Amino acid sequence: MGKFDRYSFSAQPSFDEAETRKAFSKAVPLKTIVIYCYDPRAVDIPNAVAKAMGDEVYPGHIILDDSGNRVASSTTIFPVVVAGGRAVDALRSITVAQHLFGIQNIVVVHHSHCGATSFTADGIIDAYEREHHFDISTLYERNNICITDYEQSLRHDTALIRSRGGTPKHVNIFGYFYNIDTGALTEVVREIHQIARDVGGLRSSAPLPDLQHQ
Ligand SMILES: [Zn+2]
Repeated sequence: MGKFDRYSFSAQPSFDEAETRKAFSKAVPLKTIVIYCYDPRAVDIPNAVAKAMGDEVYPGHIILDDSGNRVASSTTIFPVVVAGGRAVDALRSITVAQHLFGIQNIVVVHHSHCGATSFTADGIIDAYEREHHFDISTLYERNNICITDYEQSLRHDTALIRSRGGTPKHVNIFGYFYNIDTGALTEVVREIHQIARDVGGLRSSAPLPDLQHQ
């Protein structure tokens, strides 16, 4: 028995994984994952994306049960906040969000004057070697470490997300550049899901939400 078992769904003797998943899928009307930088100046990015996408709720409100426990939320956006907003750090979160709630869109946002543009792959690899005696080039691909060209990093990250088996095939993927001084979002990548292509050329009349929990 672990000290915090009563707070863990799967640690309960009566745990039913399928039923628990069903309950989770109803707890949050999630639609969109927004991946952006942990720079404190970038904190408004999910709000800007919610406005740009339309038909989104963020941050929404927490829903309480009769006992006052926090059991659900009205948000449609989950933020994934990582250094530079680089997609490599968000891949597992995409898979888990799809499994629990279902997603329709993934938005990658890279912002102006980002710290990730203040160093180079060679620079950080050399510094780590010198300061911490460890070769981080064995941990991270050079293309994922920093940002030099924003259009290139957005194209790379949206392609990386699309290429991974943990990304559900039905999602739309967007890449935006965000100006932290003006709050303006500029679309760089828009890749709308083509259902006809995914089912081998047969057009399906199924709306996107029906694909969420397959
Ligand atoms: Zn940044």
